[in-house]
Amino acid sequence: MKKALLFFLLSSWVFNAFASENDVDSMLAQAWKLKSKAPEKFSALLDSLAESDKRLNDEQKLKFEYLDGYRVAFSGKPLLAIEKYQHVIANTVDAELRLYASTALLNIFAITRNYSEGFDTVTYLLPQLATPGSEAAAQAHLGLAIFYNQVNEYDDAYKSASEALSLTSDLRSICFGNNLIFEAQVNQQKIISKENFEQGLEACRLAEENVVIASTVILKAKNLLNKDDAESAQELLIENKAIFDAINYPRIKAEYHSLMSMLLFKSNSIIEAEVQAKAALDIASQMGATKPNVDALYVLYLIEEFRSNSSRALAFYKQYAELEKAYVDEVSAKQLSISKAKNEALEKANQIKLLDKENALLKTEARLRKKELQNSYLVILSLVMLAAVIIAWLMVTRRIHRKFKTQARTDKLTGVTNRHYFTELAQSNLRYHSRTGQDLAFVIFDLDLFKRINDTYGHIVGDWVLQQVVKTVQRVCRGQDIIGRMGGEEFALLLPGCTVEKAIAITENYRSAIAAIDSTPTGHAFSVTASFGVSDSRQCGYSFDKLYASADEALYQSKETGRNKICGYEPEVILTSVTEQPA
Ligand code: GH3
Ligand code: MG
Ligand code: MG
Repeated sequence: MKKALLFFLLSSWVFNAFASENDVDSMLAQAWKLKSKAPEKFSALLDSLAESDKRLNDEQKLKFEYLDGYRVAFSGKPLLAIEKYQHVIANTVDAELRLYASTALLNIFAITRNYSEGFDTVTYLLPQLATPGSEAAAQAHLGLAIFYNQVNEYDDAYKSASEALSLTSDLRSICFGNNLIFEAQVNQQKIISKENFEQGLEACRLAEENVVIASTVILKAKNLLNKDDAESAQELLIENKAIFDAINYPRIKAEYHSLMSMLLFKSNSIIEAEVQAKAALDIASQMGATKPNVDALYVLYLIEEFRSNSSRALAFYKQYAELEKAYVDEVSAKQLSISKAKNEALEKANQIKLLDKENALLKTEARLRKKELQNSYLVILSLVMLAAVIIAWLMVTRRIHRKFKTQARTDKLTGVTNRHYFTELAQSNLRYHSRTGQDLAFVIFDLDLFKRINDTYGHIVGDWVLQQVVKTVQRVCRGQDIIGRMGGEEFALLLPGCTVEKAIAITENYRSAIAAIDSTPTGHAFSVTASFGVSDSRQCGYSFDKLYASADEALYQSKETGRNKICGYEPEVILTSVTEQPA
């Protein structure tokens, strides 16, 4: 049975890749088709290809090697075939060819009972099956199922065969897949339905796979035995006798006769049972310790015992016991090598898992480090952004603050320093001058008869006059002089580095400039003048109040003595100029 499957697997590859692009490809494709149908033609074709070896490219050489492996495997040189398949697996870039070679390799390991290496191949083969859909994958699953059944791993066999069935639509593959499923289930004493058997058998009939039909009939009979229906099992085998006669497959023939002898003995057909048991032995004695062989000897022993022929019974029993021991030894050897292989695979898998874990740990570490770095970038970025926000906020508040400050310091109408701020400035100037001992003059001036302007031309004109006066004074005053509006139409000036005399001289510029203001823009003709009072630090020291009061007194003098004039704070009033009288 197994060899038939191997033949099947190795021959079922439809070599799509070998299109007739050139001679070599078409020759390889031809060889591929012929290999199971016409072994001699196939071999001749390979020989002629071997002669034209130089024309083959690398992949063609590997395909040739695969086919050659097939040839040597069936000429009884499995070791050479193994070598060729392994070379193909290691070198081809064609995933499908590699899968076929792996499957073939697995089958050779299974046939040569090289279970440990078989398991290695399984571990190699399984990951290749990740690409579903291809016929090669279906074949590989069938190969796995054969191997698993052979090493009594029936669950895995069932899974692989089912997988193969899900991938293929090829009748032969369906026939083999079902047969492998039945084998796994029967060996696990699982009961299979009639319909299932019928489906499997139908596919085999259509594919004309008589060997597999025969194998399936035996499994069906064993299934009936598992159901304790020996009678139906016997009937089934008798019904299908022609199939077993027609095939030339020793293993299955032996199994048929052996099973038949047992069933006949059970139904007390002793002579027929003996005939069948001997027929089984005739075939199976060539095959060493096999199940049919062992079973047939046991039936013969039972028959002789039944006949009370104790010496012959003993002789058969001895043969049976010896062969049974050999058979059990082989089974346990198989199981031993399987569990060893499994342990090795497990250890390998564990090692890989461990490495994977270490790898994952390293990766996590690296990721964390990266994240840490990213986090610190983030922190820096946030800090920078925060700083930017703070700076922007500071700038805005400073601007607002400055605006408020300026607003708080200046007189709205004229834009000069207001009384409050002027006082502050004057006092800090005074402190400074008191330290250096420098002279400083203080001037107060008040517009003359301003009320009259307001009353005559209105407040708007009055406001205009105030603005013009400030502009005029600012135009002519020195850079270091400070001017402030003290209230109404009264202004003050601080003249650093001046005594009263010098201040009077400077103030004269102011006075004359104010008196020269042209009222035409208001649409009215009137004159603007102002009266001035001057004091200095020599007279008053550096006291603001004293300077103010003294200048105010001098201003009063100016008003009293005719306006539009400057008076210094002195017992006697210094009259500097009288140019015009206010209108
Ligand atoms: P004198 O020469 O004695 O100083 O006479 P005067 O009319 O200038 O003095 P008075 O104190 O009688 O009048 C000052 C006027 O100034 C009264 C007030 O209406 C006016 N005034 C004060 N502040 C403003 C202002 O901001 N705008 C305008 N248009 N008038 C103002
Ligand atoms: Mg006035
Ligand atoms: Mg006044």
